[in-house]
This record gives sequence, C-alpha cells and structure tokens, in this order.
Amino acid sequence: MLHYLDNAATTQVRPEAAQAALEAMTQGWGNPSSVYAFGGEAARQLKQDRADVAGALGCRPEEVTFTSCGTESNNWAISAAVELGRRKGQHIVTTAIEHAAVLEPCRELERRGWEVTYLQPDSQGWISPDQLARALRPDTVLVSMMLVNNELGTILPVREAARAIRAAGCPALLHCDAVQGFLKVPFTPGELGVDLLSVSGHKIHAPKGVGALYIRKGLRLPPLIRGGGQEGNLRSGTEATAQIAAFAAAARLGAETMERDVAHMAQLRAYAVEQLTGAVPGLKVLVPQGAPHILPVTLPGYKSEVVVRLLGDRGICLSSGSACHRGKPSHVFAALKLPKGERDGALRISFSYDTTREDVDALVRGLREAADQLFPTMS
Ligand code: PLP
Repeated sequence: MLHYLDNAATTQVRPEAAQAALEAMTQGWGNPSSVYAFGGEAARQLKQDRADVAGALGCRPEEVTFTSCGTESNNWAISAAVELGRRKGQHIVTTAIEHAAVLEPCRELERRGWEVTYLQPDSQGWISPDQLARALRPDTVLVSMMLVNNELGTILPVREAARAIRAAGCPALLHCDAVQGFLKVPFTPGELGVDLLSVSGHKIHAPKGVGALYIRKGLRLPPLIRGGGQEGNLRSGTEATAQIAAFAAAARLGAETMERDVAHMAQLRAYAVEQLTGAVPGLKVLVPQGAPHILPVTLPGYKSEVVVRLLGDRGICLSSGSACHRGKPSHVFAALKLPKGERDGALRISFSYDTTREDVDALVRGLREAADQLFPTMS
C-alpha cells in the first residue's frame, strides 16, 4: 500500500482533471486557431479554461498566460522584468531560499553583469520586510520573492514586499513564485500587489507539463516565444489544450473546496506533529507555523537520505529535506545555518486533500522502525 506524503514534489492527478484532459484529446481536439466550427469549439473551451484558472487565482482571464510549467513561468518573468527595466538599472533582489527556477536565472544574469542581492533567512526561513526594504535601491528593477518555500513551508511577506517597493518609490517589478502557495494559502495577485506570479499544474492535482504566468493588466512583457501569436502574442505555439483543460478543472475544483482542503491539511499537520514528537525520540519540528501542506522536521543524528530510502521500501513516500541537488546539499538548508546534525536529518512531509490519518500513522510507525534499525540505541 502506498502512503504518499510528498505532495510538495508532485500531486496525484485528480479524476476530474484526467477526465477533462481525455475529453480535450478525444472530443474537442481541434486547433483553437482554426476558423471552422470544430476549431471554434476548442477555442471556446480554452477561453473557459483560462477563465477557470483566473477565477481560482482571483484575477482577470486576460492576465493568465499558459506556460509549460512553473519553471518556465519563473524564467520568463525574470528575463522579461529585467528586459523591461534595462534602462532603469541592473539590480535584482531575491531571497537565498528561492527555488532553483528563480535562482538559476538570477545567477545567469549575474554572469551577464546584473547585481543580485540574496536576502538571507532566519533559522525558520523567514525574511523580514525590513531586510527587503533596506536592500531596495533606485536601480532595483526586479524583486522576486516566493510565497511559500517548497522545503520549509514558510510563508514569506510578499504583500509587505509590494508595500516596501511602493514606499521606496523604486522602479522594481515584483514577481512571486506562488507554485507552492496556490490553493494552499489564500491570496489574489491584486491583493498581494505583485506584477508577475507563477503557478504550476502538477502541484494542484493536474498533470505535469502545464503552468501559468499571471501578468498584471497593463504590463506589456516581451514575448517568450515568437511564432503564430498564440497566448496574446506572448507565447506562440499551438496551445496544450489537454493539459490546460486538466489544469483548469483542477484549479476550479481546488478553489471550490480550498477552505475545506486547507482545514484538512492543517489538521493533519497538527496531528503529525503530535504523533511524531510523541513517538519518535529526538525528532524536532523545524517550522512550527507554516503553510498547511508542508511539515519540515529533523531527526538529528540520522542521515535523511537513508531514512527516506528505508521508508520508501515500506511504501512511504516523503522527501529528504536537505536532499542533494546535483551533488550539492540543499541551498535552503545551507541558508538556515542549522547545526550539521539537524541539517543532515531533515525530512519534508507534505500533505494534500487526499492524505489520511492512516498515511500519517504509517509514517510514524515507519519512522520508529527506521530509527530502531539505524540507531537501535537511540530509540
Ligand atoms: N517553484 C517552486 C516553489 C516549486 O516547488 C517548484 C517545483 O518543485 C517549481 C517552482 C517548479 O515548478 P515545475 O515543476 O512546474 O517546473
């Protein structure tokens, strides 16, 4: 039996999303750009899908541009923002704990002459709005701050960042990677005050290979892909109608049940904290208050990769919090400056609407057994 506790990595496609994709592939499979009625049907469906994603995000349909993933949305937002700001300056502010899909484009810009300030978090991944305010300069053209950190679940002060940018009168555009925040913490792009915001389908029970970039109305971005003019001339290429239909279905249903789902995940998170701290000696919760779906813990003295593999053998799926990425330990955990034992033993447990108490109970049992097996003297 599978106990899937790695929903920050990806989520199971929900049946309604799979059904929407199937219908888009087997019934309304025309090209939305074709002029005859069959193409028109696909175009109408695409329009509805855009409206559904916009409805879930709380923005206008014309502010939603579909992309292939969160990584693409982040890359595009960053390259477009610096292009727009070219004449105003070459300074970027971001955080040291962004996803690689933000950090790598920033590093590339550094190589090409931009200056990047990486805000350093405290031991729970928190970045203070004051830190950001102090980093802003008259030549700052982009601030990129994630809404929810994918390894820690920490919710970052994006609203306050928008206010600080306005108060400083600085020309920066504000981009937010909301891939982990969408349908987990309540927000609308307008109320966050962002110019650009990225989301991804596979974190909300749609398939992999689809995402979106919110582009604030009135902001004119340079196109990402030039060609036939699809997606408002911004991202050409025949639209991925099946993936988009699934994304829209998942977003619509997720928004409808968000309140209930978030309450369920928050309850499971609290239940997991109670059970784990009671049953697994030495286990420490790294971020007591965070997004409802992510619980980072650590088992000091244990190697998280070994624990993850042992649990995996029992059908329990979760992530090693400090997982190596191409041979390097996680930059997020490096930024927290935790003691080595806590860093090496970090685990990320992540929930969804379909996670159950039985999944958590299996994890507690599995972790106890793993602890016995690895360090019999410690349990
Ligand atoms: N940003 C964050 C915070 C993420 O957690 C992820 C995925 O892990 C991404 C961006 C990348 O999204 P995608 O897998 O759709 O490219």
